[in-house]
Amino acid sequence: MFTDLNSPLQQLKHSRLSNLWMKRDDLIDPYISGNKWRKLKYLLKDAAEKNKNHLVTFGGAYSNHLVATAAAAARSGLQATAFVRGEEVINEMLVLCKLYGMQLIFTDRETYKDKVACYRKYFGENTDTYFIDEGGASTEAVKGCAELISELPADVEHIFCAAGTGTTAAGILKGIQEAGWKTKLHVIPVLKSGNFIREEINKYVAVTDHLLLHTDYHFGGYAKTQPALLEFMKQFIANHGILIDPVYTAKMCFAIQDLTTQNYFKNEEKIVAIHTGGLLGIMGMKEKF
Ligand SMILES: *Cc1c(COP(=O)(O)O)cnc(C)c1O
Repeated sequence: MFTDLNSPLQQLKHSRLSNLWMKRDDLIDPYISGNKWRKLKYLLKDAAEKNKNHLVTFGGAYSNHLVATAAAAARSGLQATAFVRGEEVINEMLVLCKLYGMQLIFTDRETYKDKVACYRKYFGENTDTYFIDEGGASTEAVKGCAELISELPADVEHIFCAAGTGTTAAGILKGIQEAGWKTKLHVIPVLKSGNFIREEINKYVAVTDHLLLHTDYHFGGYAKTQPALLEFMKQFIANHGILIDPVYTAKMCFAIQDLTTQNYFKNEEKIVAIHTGGLLGIMGMKEKF
C-alpha cells in the first residue's frame, strides 16, 4: 500500500506573497494523514520484514497517529492495538479506530508514561507484535519524512512545518542536508516552550543553521486555541479553499502570515508550507465555530 507518491504542490494565489506554495500531503490519504503516512511507511516495511502481524502503538484520544495506524493496519491485513492515554471515552477519532478494527486499551496517565512497561505487560511474550512509539517517532519515520524533499523543486528558499514531537521536522532537515540544499527549514512548535524541539530533532540529525524555530505561535499550548487563531483559520479556508486544523497547520499558516507582515521574506522568495494533514478532528470542534 505504501507505493511512491508525489502529493501536489499548489500555489497559494490569494496570498500577499507572490511565491508561496503548499505541499498538499493532506491529499495523500483522508485517514492516513499526511506526515503520518510518511512516518509509518518504513515502520510497516520493517514489521513485514520481521513477519509481525500485529501493530501496537500509543496516543491520546484525539491522535491522528492512532487513526492512521488503524487504517494502515487494516489495509495491510494486520491487527492493531492502541494504548489510549486517559479514561475511557469515545469521540469521532476513536470511532474510526474501532471501525478499522483497532483494539483500544485505555490507560491511566501514570501507567501510560512507561510505554515499554505497558507493552511488556500485555505483549511481552508475544512474538507477533510490533511496537510503534507514540506518533510513530523513530528513525524509520525520519527516513520516510526525508523523502518529501525529493518531491520539491531545488530552488525552495524556505520550508515551513508544524511540530509536535519534531520527528517530521527532523526528517525534512535530513532531506535538505542530504540533497545539499541551502533551504531554511522553519519549524513552528505547537506546544508551549517549544525550544525542546531542537533537542528532539538533534537526536536524529545534527542540527545545522538550516533550522529556525519560531516558538511564539503555540497560542497557549498543545490543542489550545485563541479567537485570533480561529478567525485566521476561517479566513484562510474561505480564501484558499484548503482546510487547515487549529492544532497544527493553522498555527503554521498564521506564523507565515505574521512573518509576512513583518517583511521577513524577500520579494519573490520561494516558500513551501507543508500541509501535514490532520483534518479529521475539526468535525468535533462544533462548539468553536
Ligand atoms: C502529528 C502531526 C504533526 C506533528 O508531527 P511530529 O512529527 O510529531 O512533529 C503535524 N501536523 C499534523 C497535522 C499532525 O497530525
